[in-house]
Amino acid sequence: MQIYKVGGAVRDRLLGKPVTDIDWVVVGATTEEMLAKGFRPVGADFPVFLHPKSGEEYALARTERKSGRGYGGFTFHASPEVTLEEDLIRRDLTINAMAEDDQQNLTDPYHGQRDLEERILRHVSPAFAEDPLRVLRVARFAARYAELGFNVAPETLELMRQLSESGELEALTAERSWKEISRALMEDQPQVFIQVLRDCGALKVLMPEVDALFGVPQPEAHHPEIDSGLHTLSVLEQSALHKQPLTVRWACLLHDLGKGLTPEEEWPRHIAHEHKGLKLIKAVNERFKAPKDCQELALLVGQYHTHGHRALELKASTLLELLQSFDVYRRPQRFEEFIVACEMDARGRKGLEQRSYPQADYLRGAANVARGVAVQPLLEKGFKGPELGEALKRERLKALKVYKESAAS
Ligand code: ATP
Ligand code: MG
Repeated sequence: MQIYKVGGAVRDRLLGKPVTDIDWVVVGATTEEMLAKGFRPVGADFPVFLHPKSGEEYALARTERKSGRGYGGFTFHASPEVTLEEDLIRRDLTINAMAEDDQQNLTDPYHGQRDLEERILRHVSPAFAEDPLRVLRVARFAARYAELGFNVAPETLELMRQLSESGELEALTAERSWKEISRALMEDQPQVFIQVLRDCGALKVLMPEVDALFGVPQPEAHHPEIDSGLHTLSVLEQSALHKQPLTVRWACLLHDLGKGLTPEEEWPRHIAHEHKGLKLIKAVNERFKAPKDCQELALLVGQYHTHGHRALELKASTLLELLQSFDVYRRPQRFEEFIVACEMDARGRKGLEQRSYPQADYLRGAANVARGVAVQPLLEKGFKGPELGEALKRERLKALKVYKESAAS
């Protein structure tokens, strides 16, 4: 049997990027031989094994044929006769379809190295269209390598467009989509992911709520970039520039969905878009079965981001309600993520990226003040049950009034 490194490990070595996980392909072997060598099978009927020591993935060279809709609709053919070239042709992009032996001899039948040099993301063969997940993968690689100047080849974008129009994208499971989306959002330029999905028509299918923001104007005085879609891309970009976690990035992407619902007569104003957007945020959350913390933060940021921006003008009672809604007493981290999401929203405006955002520290201070109100003295006064809750609220309100006054002076 011959063993080759394939995929990302070869690509990233040639790009001079750190290689984290290595995928291997094994040519000329049978399942029985792999098991005899101590490899552990990954799934019952899938020719992929884990190395007994390193735990890395070793896949028998295989060919694939599409036999139905979605990912389930694939048949595999793995046998010792399948060649390396046959295995490589089923891969998504030319830059991912190179293999390397232990002497670093490159096998590159589909010119991945040339495309690496020319900074092109190009599909390997028309079979690309057999797995709609590749639309998301290409957009993700576009985001990852945007910084190096990579672009999607026009003919690949065209295939992606056809896939998006064919209805195949709908066949993707929430789990597979979310895995790509969440990885893409964690790249340095996640806005490129969304932009590429939009360019090929996939955004309209996957997240019509986000797609609908493009072409919707906002008041120029607050939003020099005007377009709501461009604003959303900038907010997402800021969240990556500021190294925010996935929860915040997800919330940034979805925070303004309500603006897509504003009747044209009301443009460029978006009255109550925060509230109107909630059902859309919920729909997107559920479509991709986003993790609970992402879902929660997106809804809270959607509902309250304008409160964040107006923090310094909020009455002490409104401030308290905000803090209560976030349960800052038990969930301090979530409120902090809300604050930074608001800051990213403010910075995601053309020409205002560097403007200071005093609301952030003001909100942090308010949370500290509310949290600082001690329960013990109230217990000692004999409050319990709902009355204790009420008394605690009164004390917090008092403290916030003092805080607000001292911040104003
Ligand atoms: P990463 O750095 O994100 O791990 P990678 O290219 O190694 O990038 P993997 O998901 O680990 O990506 O997949 C390994 C290889 O398997 C890819 O390089 C590609 O050749 C192939 N591959 C993975 N998923 C697909 C797919 N859906 N369609 C076609 N080829 C795929
Ligand atoms: Mg990999």
